[in-house]
Amino acid sequence: MKDPQVQIAEVQHPAENWTPQRTLTWAFETFGSTVAISSAFGAEGMVLIDMASRLHKKFRLFTIDTEFLFPETYNLMDRIEAKYGVAIEKVYSMLSPEEQDRTHGPALWTRDPDRCCNLRKVEPLRRKLSELNAWIASIRRDQTSARSAAHRIEWDAKFGLVKVNPIVDWNAKQVWRYIHDHDVPYNQLHNQDYPSIGCTHCTRAVRPGEDPRAGRWPGFAKTECGLHIIEPAPAPAAPASAAKVGS
Ligand code: SF4
Repeated sequence: MKDPQVQIAEVQHPAENWTPQRTLTWAFETFGSTVAISSAFGAEGMVLIDMASRLHKKFRLFTIDTEFLFPETYNLMDRIEAKYGVAIEKVYSMLSPEEQDRTHGPALWTRDPDRCCNLRKVEPLRRKLSELNAWIASIRRDQTSARSAAHRIEWDAKFGLVKVNPIVDWNAKQVWRYIHDHDVPYNQLHNQDYPSIGCTHCTRAVRPGEDPRAGRWPGFAKTECGLHIIEPAPAPAAPASAAKVGS
C-alpha cells in the first residue's frame, strides 16, 4: 500500500467533487478491513451506515460507548445490528464510571467536562484508531466552527491516519431527506427536540430558535468532545541543502 499521505495528496482535490457513495467506495477499496465507520448514531451517522450497507455487504462500524448514553441510543444500536447485519464494535474507557468517580471525584462532567471527555471518548478513540489505517466520520462543515475547514478526505494529524468525511458538504435538510427517502432508522430523541445527542449528563433538548448544538454541554463554552479537532500536519522536513542555509 502507498504511503497514506501520498494517497491523500493525489485524491484530496478531486474528491471534493465526489458523491458520498463514491467516497465510501474509494475508502473500502483502498483500505479494506483497516477502515471503519465511527458513529454515535446521530442522523448523519445513520445516513453513512445505510449507504455503506448498500455498497458493501461487510463493513466495520465502531462506537465509543461512554456508558452514559441514552436508553434510546442503546435501543437504536440493537435496531442497527438487526437491520444491517453488522456487529457494532463497542469501545470503552479504561475506567468504569465507578472507577472514574473514585479516581477523579463524583460527577466529573459537572466540573471538568474536557477531562471527562478525554477519559471516556478521546483515549478510547485513540486506542481504536491505532488498529486502523483510515476512519470514516459523519461530520458536516456547517455543524461547528471547528469542522468548517474539514475536507472530504484528509490526513488526521491528531490521530495519525486518514480521515474520510463523505457528507462533509451536506446540510441537515439533505440528511433528513435521505433518511425519509430510504426509511433509515434513527434515534427517537430526534423527535423530542434533541438534534444532537451525546451522553445523558451533557445533552438536553433545544428550545425553539436555539442552535442545533445548544443542547450539548449546556452551561459550558465547550462545543466539541475532542474527536474532530483538526490539527495542522507537521511541516515537511527541509531538504538537506536548505537546512544548511543560515546554519
Ligand atoms: S459528554 Fe459529558 S459525560 Fe460524556 S464523556 Fe463528555 S463530559 Fe463526560
